Amino acid sequence: MLSRRIILSCRERFNKYFILVYYITYSLNNNYFIFVIYALKKEGDIMAVFDYLKELSTVEGISGREDRIRNIMEKELKKYCDEVYTDKFGNLIAKKGDKGPKIMLAAHMDEIGLMVKYIDDKGFLKFTKIGGINDQMLLNQKVIVHTDKGDIVGVLGSKPPHKMKESERNKLIKYEDMFIDIGAKNREDAQNMGVEIGSWISFKSDFDELGNNRISCKAFDDRAGCAVLLEVAKELSEMEDELNCQVYFVGTVQEEVGLKGARTSAFGINPDVALALDVTICGDHPGIKMEDAPVELGKGPVVGIVDASGRGLITHPKVLDMIKGVSKKYDISVQYEVGEGGTTDATAIHLTRDGIPTGVISVPSRYIHTPVEVIDVADLEETVKLVSSCIKELSIYFP
Ligand SMILES: [Zn+2]
Repeated sequence: MLSRRIILSCRERFNKYFILVYYITYSLNNNYFIFVIYALKKEGDIMAVFDYLKELSTVEGISGREDRIRNIMEKELKKYCDEVYTDKFGNLIAKKGDKGPKIMLAAHMDEIGLMVKYIDDKGFLKFTKIGGINDQMLLNQKVIVHTDKGDIVGVLGSKPPHKMKESERNKLIKYEDMFIDIGAKNREDAQNMGVEIGSWISFKSDFDELGNNRISCKAFDDRAGCAVLLEVAKELSEMEDELNCQVYFVGTVQEEVGLKGARTSAFGINPDVALALDVTICGDHPGIKMEDAPVELGKGPVVGIVDASGRGLITHPKVLDMIKGVSKKYDISVQYEVGEGGTTDATAIHLTRDGIPTGVISVPSRYIHTPVEVIDVADLEETVKLVSSCIKELSIYFP
């Protein structure tokens, strides 16, 4: 059987088709024959969600600097929606359908990152964190410093272990004591390269396939949600007249720094119901207990019931009924989550105007908020199925 890698590269070349190749060998009078069978098979549209994620996760866009992601998503959504625009705050909004209840689907376009706050006289950059980052994951990472003159690669340097005193070896280094080396000779040199106070910084990370259809890159939080959003828009575009609701696909800005874009876009759209599409924490690896995060990779999309111990979102019962009913009807395995820390765009949306029934559907992910987040492609595909099925059934639950 072919590796997924070869199938994927074939898919890139043949777009909607992929080639399955089987090698059959047998011997006849000691002559060995090799038969190669090529089979062209129409690829289900749902598989393309992988390609969306690959493109979106490798492109950079920290909070407040989402332009590159917005451009990719805008181009795609224009193919499938009736109306696409960017609001004053920077949220990307696409609308499909003109009758029935209004549903808002929100996925945040921003990723965590850093920002230059000082250039020292030797040309090293001091920075602040944008979004929730554990200092321990920063050291010795490669980053990209984005300037008006172009993107510059930098590294977070540190003292070699040979020169560390015993007391230093086990000490945690705070981000305030770290620095970025971009190869500049001094401050002026760094400035000539285009770096200035406020230059934004993203993590440099490759998109890789691990075993068992599991993939790793930075920013699956929340490019996974963005990829689901695009794929759902593509699926719904094929059902034209049957669509009995109005769908607003929203790429929100600045989620990682306070759910800001979700708040303003929900006010503008004023939907009847909303779903935030995000990632959530798995408890299935060493260093974390299942009872602290009872979600596993490969077991399907995660339906939020409560997050931040109820201080964030308490999912509206009607939304929960819809997701439960739809997952049963379409035979989609889901996981349920009652969370104590962390929240999503859903929290900001449900408190808009006089209140909006809102839920959250997440793709399970390991190592969230690091440059090596891991998800399972099957979970991504099942999330697309669950969200698009909810939209098909929406008018039953929200007439
Ligand atoms: Zn997120």
